Amino acid sequence: MPPKKPIRVRIAPSPTGYLHIGTARTALFNWLFAKSQGGSFILRIEDTDLERSNIAFEKDIIENLRWLGLTWDEGPALEKSEYIGDYGPYHQTKRLASYEKYIKKLLDENLAYYCFCAKEQLEEERQAMLSQGMAPKYSGRCRSLTSEQVQSMITAGDNYVIRFKMPSAQITFKDMIRGSVSFDADLMGDLVIAKNIQTPLYNFAVVIDDYEMNISHVIRGEDHLANTPKQIVIQKALGFNEPQYAHLPLILDKERGKMSKRFAATSIKEYRDQGYLPKTLINFMAFLGWHPQDDREILSNEELIKEFDIKRVQKAGAIFNLEKLDWLNAQYIKTLPDAELLPLLLPFKPQLKDLPERTALKIIATAKDRLKKLSDFKSLTDFFFTMPNYNASLLLWKNTAKDKTIKNLKTILQLLPDALEIKQFAEKEGRGEVLWPLRVALSGKDISPGPFEIMEALEENETKNRINIAIKKLRGDNGL
Ligand code: GLU
Repeated sequence: MPPKKPIRVRIAPSPTGYLHIGTARTALFNWLFAKSQGGSFILRIEDTDLERSNIAFEKDIIENLRWLGLTWDEGPALEKSEYIGDYGPYHQTKRLASYEKYIKKLLDENLAYYCFCAKEQLEEERQAMLSQGMAPKYSGRCRSLTSEQVQSMITAGDNYVIRFKMPSAQITFKDMIRGSVSFDADLMGDLVIAKNIQTPLYNFAVVIDDYEMNISHVIRGEDHLANTPKQIVIQKALGFNEPQYAHLPLILDKERGKMSKRFAATSIKEYRDQGYLPKTLINFMAFLGWHPQDDREILSNEELIKEFDIKRVQKAGAIFNLEKLDWLNAQYIKTLPDAELLPLLLPFKPQLKDLPERTALKIIATAKDRLKKLSDFKSLTDFFFTMPNYNASLLLWKNTAKDKTIKNLKTILQLLPDALEIKQFAEKEGRGEVLWPLRVALSGKDISPGPFEIMEALEENETKNRINIAIKKLRGDNGL
């Protein structure tokens, strides 16, 4: 048997926006595929579009792939001043010599040609075809230019692009998810593969890169399905092997429309800023078009790697369910020890770091089970830091009289700090009558953690102070 070809996959984002959830999902499926097959996962930044590419977006993509834990297995060595980690990504802009070599090869072999057609002329022809009910495609006019004509037009400084001669053939390939897929290359017209020798376009550059990087499987979004036959004809013309293809289903919103900003955040950065954990996002994204054989919904990275099978990726669009995301995040937050949550919560509540660690951990314990996102922490715990200005009537449990409520609060003051005695007192006098005003006095809110949990986190002095304020409010000394 011939030796098996090593498994090598890649994610090839263009740095024209923040790391998109769709790109991150593609990265994850490539990463899972590589890890589950003992293969390599590669990051290639497709930055040849200089006008749209932006270093800030590239940094965001790299930082957030790392944050998600989707690290790549090789790449050029980095300067100390560059990103942390062992390898950098590959960059298309550092590979221009390769593209040039193959563009020249295609031109020399007469498989590609210079096209000088003006934009306006092309647009006119397109409109004419459309009005006749034909699918528009380039006429191929410049195919017949002689090399002398081409030379003199180039010398004269005429604008041009480089087009690939589309064969008239049926292109069929086997997609690991969608099965056999066919396109009629004849309908596509001669494809522009480069703006000039130094400026290749996506469909061309990607073929050269995948070949030179020995990519064995191209796993990417379904939005690229129509690009695949274009890439295959170029591979064939250059005598390259064809990688295997897998096109992942689109991510859809609740109404089965294309996922858009109006429906939910689309960048990983936004989810990170709202306080979703990387583990949550990985688990959630793995289910965007795939699920394990059983009905488990919470899977660690190791379990995902063990279970992942690209053949079980679905063809139908993957619905993005925000409630499920929140539910998953809440589950992951609950399993984190309070001490691990503390540093994660600091960006959302910087005042935590001014407290003794013991107190901070107690506050975290009161809110942890109610956090869907880390950002919820602030509003759930603000009252520990600043007492809200509440109305005295909130202190009254049902029809309990003001005097009785004052009396109960005073008794509590005497029993402090003995929580057990306060509990016994509440049993005797009525839980509502005692514990409701106590809880409101401590939190200033109609909904909050229980009074004993709050007392645990507040210093005894502050507890007394808040009860005294409540008593004053009830007496009307405080502008009731
Ligand atoms: N730069 C392309 C993108 O960001 C890569 C597509 C591919 O994987 O071939 O969509």
